[in-house]
Amino acid sequence: MIMCPTCGGPDCIRPAEDVLDSIYQMYMACPECPPEPGWDKQVPLAALLHGETVDENTLLCSSCRRRPLDVVMAHVLAVMLEHGDREEGAGLALVGTPLISCGFPIMYPPRLGHGDLVLIAGNVRPDTAVDIVDRVPEVKGVVLRVGDQAKSVGILDSGSQPHEYILLAGCDMRCDVAQTALGELVIYKSQSSIHIEFPRESGHKMNVLGKLDMEGLLAGRVVVDGMCGPGTLGLMAVLMGADKVILNDAWRPAIENVLLNLEVNKGLLDVEVERLVPTGDMPLIGDETVLVARASRGSNTTAEVYFGDIRRLADVVDDCDVCLIDTFPTADPSGIRDIWLKKTPNVIVI
Ligand SMILES: [Zn+2]
Ligand SMILES: [Zn+2]
Repeated sequence: MIMCPTCGGPDCIRPAEDVLDSIYQMYMACPECPPEPGWDKQVPLAALLHGETVDENTLLCSSCRRRPLDVVMAHVLAVMLEHGDREEGAGLALVGTPLISCGFPIMYPPRLGHGDLVLIAGNVRPDTAVDIVDRVPEVKGVVLRVGDQAKSVGILDSGSQPHEYILLAGCDMRCDVAQTALGELVIYKSQSSIHIEFPRESGHKMNVLGKLDMEGLLAGRVVVDGMCGPGTLGLMAVLMGADKVILNDAWRPAIENVLLNLEVNKGLLDVEVERLVPTGDMPLIGDETVLVARASRGSNTTAEVYFGDIRRLADVVDDCDVCLIDTFPTADPSGIRDIWLKKTPNVIVI
């Protein structure tokens, strides 16, 4: 059992094998499910409901106890309207961004059960958020969006101000399934402090790894994932047979997610994880390079996790065959690239 570092719940975080076993059926309608309502997202809620109210039983399947995403969003909107957080006449499009708790590309509207949704929303008050989590069973957590939607959550660079959303109610831990031809991993993210990644971006990253593998630059190699975030690229590189992967980030929430993701995926990666220093007392943004954890397979170290600035990491890493630099789109990676080009010709800016 893995305790959730955010809510402390025993069921919030599941081992990767459990998630992957169930994910392909997780959001499919069962044979008894009522048909998809197919609601127009611009139409005011009252018009969609034809004078009815919405509660936890609205369009609830009596067999699988799940509801269509549209109905869950309508229920959230009804609570927002009650609190005055949305104008009368608002449609579903104005509720916010729904993120399914276990994200993977699906081609159909999902059916949601208990705790299957984390909602990212602007203009929502804390008491409204608490009420949404209390009354809408499918909503696991409500995260307040702060600032411009285009601005990524996290830190641009170790010298910059962090941009964080605010967890208003419930828990914001959710996962995405990372997929390559060589296997799948489950990557958890505390979504109020970690960049929200959509399938297209994740697909692009996995393609980069596939290309490196084709070029013989992954299996048996030493790979640095220098701005690793929750660890998607680095952990996938371990799965794809890298000899050793060095994961590094200067953002403490990212490192805490990496540590969690090593635990979640340790069966798939066939590693034992050793935590070397507690992260709780560390600053939010790291500077000095600190080795916080190590993962090993037998007597071989397969992954090391460092907290600190990617420039300083170059002082403590001797061998490096490939360095991956995954910055925000608005960042200029040229200074960092120059530092790592002294170590290896294979510096890949994602
Ligand atoms: Zn949790
Ligand atoms: Zn059903």
